[in-house]
Amino acid sequence: MVPLIYHPRFNITAFGLERLHPFDSQKYRHIHDALVARGLRRPSDFTRPSPVTQADLLKVHTPEYLRSLRRSEVLARILEVPVVRRIPTWLLDRRVLRPMRYAVGGTLLACRLALEHGVAINLGGGYHHAGSDRGGGFSAYADVPLGALILHEEGRIGRVLVVDLDVHQGDGTASVFRNWSWASILDLYEDDLFPFPKEPVDVPLPVPAGLSGIEYLDIVRDHLPGSFDAHRPDLIIYNAGSDPFEGDPLARLRLSGNDLAERDLLVVTMARERGIPVAMVLSGGYSPQSWRIHTDAIEGILTRFDPA
Ligand SMILES: [Zn+2]
Repeated sequence: MVPLIYHPRFNITAFGLERLHPFDSQKYRHIHDALVARGLRRPSDFTRPSPVTQADLLKVHTPEYLRSLRRSEVLARILEVPVVRRIPTWLLDRRVLRPMRYAVGGTLLACRLALEHGVAINLGGGYHHAGSDRGGGFSAYADVPLGALILHEEGRIGRVLVVDLDVHQGDGTASVFRNWSWASILDLYEDDLFPFPKEPVDVPLPVPAGLSGIEYLDIVRDHLPGSFDAHRPDLIIYNAGSDPFEGDPLARLRLSGNDLAERDLLVVTMARERGIPVAMVLSGGYSPQSWRIHTDAIEGILTRFDPA
């Protein structure tokens, strides 16, 4: 079976924070519960990660940056919720940062399990606006670069390719990768959105607001196979943000839920046809329907890649 990585501690329950930011901080639990309700997995089938350690975080982050996360005003900016400034930092660490450290552990585990099983999905992670010395856009930790680096240091992979299809550009991941000759990014994003300025990436695919699902999927079909063949990665980490959805409050592309399910299945299938392991992380998605979109997409992948 395709490994699914989830921990109940992924979910953020913080003082009504979930009502102050459009992000559905219970999205992970909703996806888990829906996969169980659909009979695709039993609760015991999910693999639970450990939270990432401080020592591992220091592989990609500067000590100064990690120390700055102990300041409420820094977290208020990263989470984009000004009122967080008034919440004590120990409470923020327990209720917001610790869930994120579990999700980072989930991304590491997804990378490992992808090498063993061909495909693995973390039901969280994809904090692609976090760089070595900065956070932002709801991203405190650079989970994807960290997963890539640890496997690279262990000699399990040579080259890695990140396929970032979240609607926002993955500027944090790109800034970390700039110094790593063995790591590349293909990034398809709506050009008129945060972040500004964009970070240089290996394969930039900026698209305008209003792009339809058909046009979007054509771009995916036209550019991904060539990139997979050109970069010849030993691992693909797929940032499967659901915010290109037509109902997303933070973006203006026009993909339906079905388009997004087709996109995710396309990416995983194109990787597996080439024998490349793929670790998928969920990244952004701010519509109240985001959990359902991910659940449908994951169901499509399980239907295709779970053994019959
Ligand atoms: Zn996004």
